[in-house]
Amino acid sequence: MRYIEPHAHMVSRVTDDYERMALSGCAAVCEPAFWAGFDRSSPAGFHDYFSQLTEHEPKRAAKFGLKHFCWLCINSKEAEDVQLAAEVIALIPRFLDRPNVLGIGEIGLNKNSRNELRVLEMQVELAAKYRQLILVHTPHLEDKLKGTRLILDVLKNDPRIRPERVIIDHVEEHTVEMVLDCGMWAGMTLYPETKCTPARAVDILETYGRERIWMNSACDWGVSDPLAVPKTALEMKRRGHLGAAIDQVIFQNPEKFLRQSPNFQLPDDSPRRRHGNRTSR
Ligand SMILES: [Zn+2]
Repeated sequence: MRYIEPHAHMVSRVTDDYERMALSGCAAVCEPAFWAGFDRSSPAGFHDYFSQLTEHEPKRAAKFGLKHFCWLCINSKEAEDVQLAAEVIALIPRFLDRPNVLGIGEIGLNKNSRNELRVLEMQVELAAKYRQLILVHTPHLEDKLKGTRLILDVLKNDPRIRPERVIIDHVEEHTVEMVLDCGMWAGMTLYPETKCTPARAVDILETYGRERIWMNSACDWGVSDPLAVPKTALEMKRRGHLGAAIDQVIFQNPEKFLRQSPNFQLPDDSPRRRHGNRTSR
């Protein structure tokens, strides 16, 4: 089995998790910028976090043969202070040239507040200006449907944003269809308790098909499982899905989306492919 973990907060995980992921067939791990579990008090805190994501974490992953990529932003949980958000967003362009940066994310909404929406618009503007891929976090539980609609409206109203370059994450049964109908990609987050369980995720695949869908563990400092993707692959196998179908969902689909960033390269890419990606930027 081979897979790509497209959404994991590895700064919160122990080194043993990298080893277990590598042993399970993980080829690359992608880390969106996220809330630390507490509010950072200044832009300098974000500067250090962005340095950690672009300098330190790739080295930690490399010890286990894993490629590490990241996304940069200020998370919606810290978006109530619009002035702080503006100062953090102003820091991001200087990091965009770093070799493991894939785009802007995970931006989005948490409680669907007016300030969160304003900061979302600022970060969509940043992504459009610098032609970055976008990874979107959608709210939890009762806020998810409304929040997903608000986010899709912001993205659809900007003609510079191409839907195939946007992934809307944490979709569930009631939001996946509207995301796919917009031409965007949909991410299913596999959590032991909330969001999708492996069984629910496979139900969604069986209902809506395997195009433009990926799965991730979104493992972080809370209750979560860094091996949720390979465990869900086992659930697919148990239900009789063929190896090619499993490989499409857990490897080829994330690879296809992420290759839209010239920075996304895997260890066994040929020099020609690396060169080709660079020149097509
Ligand atoms: Zn996340």
